[in-house]
Amino acid sequence: MAPLVANYYLTYRCNARCHFCNIWALEPGKEADFETIKHNLQDLRRLGVKYVDFTGGEPLLRQDVGQIYTEAKRQGFYTSMTTNTILYPQKAKEIQGLVDFLNFSLDGADAETHDHSRGVKIFDNLVESVKIAKSLGEFPVLNHTVTAQNYERIDEVGELGKNLGVRVWLNPAFTAHEHYNSNKNPTPQMVAAIEATAKKYKNVGYNKAALAFIEAGGNDTKNPRCKAVDAVIAISPNDELLLPCYHFAQTGVPIQGRLYELYRESEEVENYRQSQGKLKVCEGCTVWCYLIPSFFMGVDKYWWLNQVTYASEFLARKRFLQRA
Ligand code: SF4
Ligand code: SF4
Repeated sequence: MAPLVANYYLTYRCNARCHFCNIWALEPGKEADFETIKHNLQDLRRLGVKYVDFTGGEPLLRQDVGQIYTEAKRQGFYTSMTTNTILYPQKAKEIQGLVDFLNFSLDGADAETHDHSRGVKIFDNLVESVKIAKSLGEFPVLNHTVTAQNYERIDEVGELGKNLGVRVWLNPAFTAHEHYNSNKNPTPQMVAAIEATAKKYKNVGYNKAALAFIEAGGNDTKNPRCKAVDAVIAISPNDELLLPCYHFAQTGVPIQGRLYELYRESEEVENYRQSQGKLKVCEGCTVWCYLIPSFFMGVDKYWWLNQVTYASEFLARKRFLQRA
Protein backbone atom coordinates (compact mmCIF):
# COMPACT_ATOMS: atom_id res chain seq x y z
CA MET A 1 0.00 0.00 0.00
CA ALA A 2 1.32 3.46 -0.94
CA PRO A 3 2.19 5.95 1.81
CA LEU A 4 -0.78 8.23 2.43
CA VAL A 5 0.68 11.49 3.58
CA ALA A 6 3.81 13.61 3.32
CA ASN A 7 4.59 15.72 6.36
CA TYR A 8 6.71 18.29 4.59
CA TYR A 9 8.54 20.62 7.01
CA LEU A 10 9.21 23.74 4.95
CA THR A 11 11.06 25.62 7.69
CA TYR A 12 11.96 25.36 11.34
CA ARG A 13 11.75 29.15 11.69
CA CYS A 14 8.85 30.58 13.64
CA ASN A 15 7.62 34.04 14.54
CA ALA A 16 5.62 32.87 17.58
CA ARG A 17 7.10 31.98 20.97
CA CYS A 18 4.87 29.16 22.19
CA HIS A 19 5.88 28.00 25.65
CA PHE A 20 5.21 24.34 24.78
CA CYS A 21 7.44 24.30 21.67
CA ASN A 22 11.14 24.95 21.21
CA ILE A 23 11.34 25.31 17.43
CA TRP A 24 11.54 29.08 17.59
CA ALA A 25 14.61 28.86 19.84
CA LEU A 26 16.58 26.60 17.48
CA GLU A 27 19.32 27.90 15.21
CA PRO A 28 17.59 28.30 11.81
CA GLY A 29 19.18 25.80 9.44
CA LYS A 30 19.52 25.69 5.67
CA GLU A 31 16.27 25.33 3.73
CA ALA A 32 15.77 23.54 0.44
CA ASP A 33 15.04 25.74 -2.57
CA PHE A 34 11.88 25.62 -4.66
CA GLU A 35 13.34 23.36 -7.38
CA THR A 36 14.32 20.75 -4.77
CA ILE A 37 10.84 20.82 -3.29
CA LYS A 38 9.28 20.56 -6.75
CA HIS A 39 11.39 17.50 -7.54
CA ASN A 40 10.46 15.86 -4.22
CA LEU A 41 6.79 16.51 -4.94
CA GLN A 42 7.18 14.69 -8.26
CA ASP A 43 8.72 11.73 -6.43
CA LEU A 44 5.98 11.78 -3.81
CA ARG A 45 3.43 11.49 -6.62
CA ARG A 46 5.35 8.57 -8.12
CA LEU A 47 5.27 6.92 -4.70
CA GLY A 48 1.48 7.27 -4.63
CA VAL A 49 1.19 10.03 -2.01
CA LYS A 50 -1.96 12.11 -2.50
CA TYR A 51 -1.91 14.45 0.48
CA VAL A 52 0.83 16.88 1.52
CA ASP A 53 0.79 18.72 4.81
CA PHE A 54 3.27 21.58 4.52
CA THR A 55 4.27 22.40 8.03
CA GLY A 56 7.01 23.93 10.17
CA GLY A 57 7.87 26.07 12.04
CA GLU A 58 5.59 28.62 10.51
CA PRO A 59 5.10 27.72 6.83
CA LEU A 60 4.02 31.25 5.87
CA LEU A 61 7.55 32.46 6.66
CA ARG A 62 8.72 30.90 3.39
CA GLN A 63 8.92 33.66 0.78
CA ASP A 64 7.95 31.15 -1.91
CA VAL A 65 5.02 29.61 -0.02
CA GLY A 66 2.53 30.59 -2.76
CA GLN A 67 4.77 29.07 -5.44
CA ILE A 68 5.12 25.83 -3.45
CA TYR A 69 1.36 25.43 -2.96
CA THR A 70 0.68 26.32 -6.59
CA GLU A 71 3.10 23.58 -7.66
CA ALA A 72 1.56 21.05 -5.24
CA LYS A 73 -1.91 21.75 -6.62
CA ARG A 74 -0.60 21.64 -10.21
CA GLN A 75 0.71 18.14 -9.46
CA GLY A 76 -2.70 17.11 -8.11
CA PHE A 77 -2.10 16.92 -4.34
CA TYR A 78 -4.58 17.63 -1.61
CA THR A 79 -2.89 20.17 0.63
CA SER A 80 -3.08 21.43 4.19
CA MET A 81 -1.48 24.07 6.33
CA THR A 82 -1.53 24.88 10.01
CA THR A 83 -0.54 28.47 10.69
CA ASN A 84 -0.27 30.66 13.75
CA THR A 85 -1.90 33.35 11.49
CA ILE A 86 0.64 36.11 12.19
CA LEU A 87 1.37 36.46 8.46
CA TYR A 88 -1.98 35.23 7.17
CA PRO A 89 -3.53 38.67 6.52
CA GLN A 90 -0.51 39.55 4.32
CA LYS A 91 -0.31 36.20 2.55
CA ALA A 92 -4.00 35.28 2.27
CA LYS A 93 -4.41 36.32 -1.36
CA GLU A 94 -1.18 34.60 -2.40
CA ILE A 95 -2.43 31.22 -1.15
CA GLN A 96 -6.12 31.73 -1.89
CA GLY A 97 -7.73 28.52 -3.14
CA LEU A 98 -4.48 26.52 -2.83
CA VAL A 99 -4.93 25.06 0.68
CA ASP A 100 -7.62 22.40 0.95
CA PHE A 101 -7.47 22.16 4.74
CA LEU A 102 -6.59 25.49 6.29
CA ASN A 103 -6.05 25.28 10.05
CA PHE A 104 -5.56 28.21 12.39
CA SER A 105 -3.97 27.29 15.72
CA LEU A 106 -5.97 28.39 18.73
CA ASP A 107 -4.88 27.89 22.35
CA GLY A 108 -7.61 29.78 24.15
CA ALA A 109 -10.87 31.61 23.46
CA ASP A 110 -9.68 35.01 24.65
CA ALA A 111 -6.69 37.23 23.98
CA GLU A 112 -5.15 36.74 27.41
CA THR A 113 -5.14 32.94 27.26
CA HIS A 114 -4.17 32.59 23.61
CA ASP A 115 -1.45 35.24 23.66
CA HIS A 116 0.02 33.91 26.90
CA SER A 117 0.34 30.45 25.38
CA ARG A 118 1.72 31.75 22.05
CA GLY A 119 4.16 34.19 23.66
CA VAL A 120 3.11 36.98 21.29
CA LYS A 121 0.01 39.15 20.97
CA ILE A 122 -1.81 37.49 18.08
CA PHE A 123 -5.37 36.79 19.19
CA ASP A 124 -6.85 39.82 17.39
CA ASN A 125 -4.84 38.86 14.32
CA LEU A 126 -6.32 35.35 14.49
CA VAL A 127 -9.89 36.70 14.61
CA GLU A 128 -9.07 39.04 11.72
CA SER A 129 -7.57 36.12 9.79
CA VAL A 130 -10.79 34.12 10.14
CA LYS A 131 -12.74 37.03 8.69
CA ILE A 132 -10.29 37.51 5.81
CA ALA A 133 -10.23 33.80 5.02
CA LYS A 134 -14.01 33.59 4.93
CA SER A 135 -14.25 36.68 2.75
CA LEU A 136 -11.89 34.97 0.27
CA GLY A 137 -14.05 31.86 0.14
CA GLU A 138 -11.74 29.74 2.33
CA PHE A 139 -12.95 27.37 5.05
CA PRO A 140 -10.60 27.87 8.00
CA VAL A 141 -10.85 25.53 10.97
CA LEU A 142 -9.71 26.49 14.47
CA ASN A 143 -7.30 23.82 15.59
CA HIS A 144 -7.36 23.59 19.37
CA THR A 145 -4.96 21.36 21.30
CA VAL A 146 -6.60 20.13 24.47
CA THR A 147 -4.17 19.89 27.38
CA ALA A 148 -4.20 19.19 31.10
CA GLN A 149 -4.12 22.97 31.57
CA ASN A 150 -7.03 23.98 29.34
CA TYR A 151 -9.48 21.08 29.10
CA GLU A 152 -11.88 22.66 31.59
CA ARG A 153 -12.35 25.62 29.23
CA ILE A 154 -13.02 23.88 25.90
CA ASP A 155 -16.58 25.11 25.96
CA GLU A 156 -15.35 28.66 25.44
CA VAL A 157 -13.47 27.55 22.35
CA GLY A 158 -16.62 25.92 20.94
CA GLU A 159 -18.48 29.16 21.61
CA LEU A 160 -15.82 31.25 19.86
CA GLY A 161 -15.98 29.02 16.79
CA LYS A 162 -19.75 29.31 16.79
CA ASN A 163 -19.58 33.11 17.00
CA LEU A 164 -17.02 33.29 14.20
CA GLY A 165 -18.97 30.83 12.05
CA VAL A 166 -16.17 28.27 11.69
CA ARG A 167 -15.55 24.69 12.75
CA VAL A 168 -13.31 23.84 15.68
CA TRP A 169 -11.18 20.70 15.71
CA LEU A 170 -10.18 19.38 19.15
CA ASN A 171 -6.83 17.60 19.29
CA PRO A 172 -5.91 15.93 22.55
CA ALA A 173 -2.29 16.90 23.31
CA PHE A 174 -0.14 14.02 22.23
CA THR A 175 2.06 12.10 24.56
CA ALA A 176 5.44 10.83 23.61
CA HIS A 177 8.46 9.42 25.31
CA GLU A 178 9.18 11.63 28.35
CA HIS A 179 8.05 14.69 26.41
CA TYR A 180 5.04 16.92 26.02
CA ASN A 181 2.32 16.20 28.55
CA SER A 182 3.42 12.60 28.95
CA ASN A 183 1.74 10.97 31.91
CA LYS A 184 0.57 14.27 33.32
CA ASN A 185 -2.67 14.29 31.33
CA PRO A 186 -5.82 13.51 33.29
CA THR A 187 -6.99 11.37 30.38
CA PRO A 188 -10.53 10.36 31.51
CA GLN A 189 -11.47 13.95 32.34
CA MET A 190 -10.01 15.29 29.09
CA VAL A 191 -11.82 12.64 27.06
CA ALA A 192 -15.10 13.44 28.83
CA ALA A 193 -14.62 17.19 28.25
CA ILE A 194 -13.92 16.70 24.53
CA GLU A 195 -16.95 14.43 24.05
CA ALA A 196 -19.23 16.77 26.00
CA THR A 197 -18.16 19.85 24.04
CA ALA A 198 -18.58 18.11 20.69
CA LYS A 199 -22.06 17.03 21.77
CA LYS A 200 -22.99 20.55 22.80
CA TYR A 201 -21.60 22.41 19.77
CA LYS A 202 -22.39 21.26 16.24
CA ASN A 203 -19.35 23.14 14.94
CA VAL A 204 -16.92 21.07 17.05
CA GLY A 205 -15.24 17.85 15.92
CA TYR A 206 -12.63 15.40 17.21
CA ASN A 207 -11.11 12.10 16.20
CA LYS A 208 -12.87 9.17 17.91
CA ALA A 209 -9.97 6.82 17.15
CA ALA A 210 -7.52 9.20 18.85
CA LEU A 211 -9.59 9.33 22.03
CA ALA A 212 -9.91 5.53 22.13
CA PHE A 213 -6.17 5.24 21.55
CA ILE A 214 -5.16 7.54 24.42
CA GLU A 215 -7.62 5.75 26.69
CA ALA A 216 -5.85 2.49 25.79
CA GLY A 217 -2.49 4.00 26.77
CA GLY A 218 -1.09 4.89 23.35
CA ASN A 219 1.22 2.82 21.19
CA ASP A 220 2.18 -0.57 22.60
CA THR A 221 5.68 -1.50 21.45
CA LYS A 222 4.86 -5.22 21.79
CA ASN A 223 1.85 -4.89 19.52
CA PRO A 224 2.54 -1.62 17.68
CA ARG A 225 -0.22 0.33 15.97
CA CYS A 226 2.13 3.00 14.64
CA LYS A 227 3.02 2.63 10.96
CA ALA A 228 4.93 5.89 10.71
CA VAL A 229 7.22 4.71 7.90
CA ASP A 230 4.55 2.89 5.88
CA ALA A 231 1.93 5.64 6.13
CA VAL A 232 3.92 8.88 6.20
CA ILE A 233 6.92 10.37 4.44
CA ALA A 234 8.51 13.07 6.61
CA ILE A 235 10.85 15.56 4.96
CA SER A 236 12.92 18.16 6.79
CA PRO A 237 13.50 21.76 5.62
CA ASN A 238 17.09 20.90 4.67
CA ASP A 239 15.99 18.06 2.39
CA GLU A 240 16.36 15.00 4.58
CA LEU A 241 14.09 12.01 4.87
CA LEU A 242 13.31 11.79 8.58
CA LEU A 243 13.13 8.28 10.01
CA PRO A 244 11.01 6.95 11.59
CA CYS A 245 9.18 10.24 12.26
CA TYR A 246 9.91 13.92 12.85
CA HIS A 247 9.38 13.93 16.60
CA PHE A 248 11.85 11.16 17.29
CA ALA A 249 13.88 11.24 14.14
CA GLN A 250 16.83 8.97 14.77
CA THR A 251 18.10 9.46 11.25
CA GLY A 252 17.88 12.17 8.62
CA VAL A 253 18.91 10.72 5.28
CA PRO A 254 19.96 13.37 2.68
CA ILE A 255 17.50 13.08 -0.21
CA GLN A 256 19.54 14.74 -2.99
CA GLY A 257 17.00 14.12 -5.73
CA ARG A 258 16.49 10.40 -5.03
CA LEU A 259 13.46 10.32 -2.74
CA TYR A 260 11.71 7.66 -4.83
CA GLU A 261 14.69 5.29 -4.77
CA LEU A 262 15.42 5.97 -1.10
CA TYR A 263 11.90 5.23 0.01
CA ARG A 264 11.44 2.20 -2.25
CA GLU A 265 14.83 0.53 -2.10
CA SER A 266 17.10 1.73 0.70
CA GLU A 267 18.15 -0.40 3.61
CA GLU A 268 17.68 2.53 6.01
CA VAL A 269 13.99 2.85 5.19
CA GLU A 270 13.50 -0.91 5.33
CA ASN A 271 15.18 -1.10 8.75
CA TYR A 272 12.95 1.66 10.14
CA ARG A 273 9.92 0.05 8.54
CA GLN A 274 10.71 -3.09 10.50
CA SER A 275 11.12 -1.16 13.77
CA GLN A 276 8.32 1.44 13.40
CA GLY A 277 6.33 1.61 16.61
CA LYS A 278 8.72 -0.82 18.34
CA LEU A 279 11.51 1.51 19.46
CA LYS A 280 12.00 2.50 23.07
CA VAL A 281 10.70 6.01 22.26
CA CYS A 282 7.52 4.47 20.81
CA GLU A 283 6.11 3.18 24.09
CA GLY A 284 2.87 5.03 24.88
CA CYS A 285 3.33 7.37 21.91
CA THR A 286 0.31 9.24 20.54
CA VAL A 287 1.95 11.59 18.05
CA TRP A 288 -1.15 12.12 15.91
CA CYS A 289 0.70 13.29 12.78
CA TYR A 290 1.84 9.66 12.43
CA LEU A 291 -0.75 7.69 14.38
CA ILE A 292 -3.79 9.02 12.53
CA PRO A 293 -2.38 8.15 9.07
CA SER A 294 -1.45 4.77 10.62
CA PHE A 295 -5.09 4.19 11.60
CA PHE A 296 -5.96 4.16 7.87
CA MET A 297 -3.79 1.04 7.51
CA GLY A 298 -4.84 -2.31 9.00
CA VAL A 299 -8.49 -2.96 9.87
CA ASP A 300 -9.24 -2.87 13.61
CA LYS A 301 -11.32 -0.73 15.95
CA TYR A 302 -9.08 2.30 15.36
CA TRP A 303 -9.54 1.89 11.62
CA TRP A 304 -13.32 1.89 12.06
CA LEU A 305 -13.40 4.83 14.47
CA ASN A 306 -11.11 6.78 12.16
CA GLN A 307 -13.32 6.07 9.14
CA VAL A 308 -16.45 7.10 11.07
CA THR A 309 -14.69 10.27 12.23
CA TYR A 310 -13.67 11.44 8.79
CA ALA A 311 -16.94 10.44 7.12
CA SER A 312 -18.97 12.41 9.65
CA GLU A 313 -16.51 15.31 9.74
CA PHE A 314 -16.68 15.61 5.98
CA LEU A 315 -20.48 15.67 6.09
CA ALA A 316 -20.45 18.11 9.02
CA ARG A 317 -18.10 20.43 7.18
CA LYS A 318 -20.28 20.33 4.10
CA ARG A 319 -23.41 20.94 6.16
CA PHE A 320 -21.65 23.56 8.20
CA LEU A 321 -20.21 25.26 5.17
CA GLN A 322 -23.56 25.39 3.45
CA ARG A 323 -25.08 27.04 6.50
CA ALA A 324 -22.27 29.47 7.23
S1 SF4 B 1 3.51 28.51 16.18
FE1 SF4 B 1 3.89 26.31 16.02
S2 SF4 B 1 6.05 26.10 15.39
FE2 SF4 B 1 5.76 28.21 16.11
S3 SF4 B 1 6.44 28.19 18.25
FE3 SF4 B 1 4.20 27.84 18.21
S4 SF4 B 1 3.90 25.59 18.14
FE4 SF4 B 1 6.07 26.05 17.62
S1 SF4 C 1 5.31 5.35 17.78
FE1 SF4 C 1 5.56 6.12 15.68
S2 SF4 C 1 5.32 8.34 15.81
FE2 SF4 C 1 5.72 7.56 17.88
S3 SF4 C 1 7.97 7.74 18.17
FE3 SF4 C 1 7.51 5.65 17.37
S4 SF4 C 1 7.71 5.79 15.15
FE4 SF4 C 1 7.52 7.90 15.94
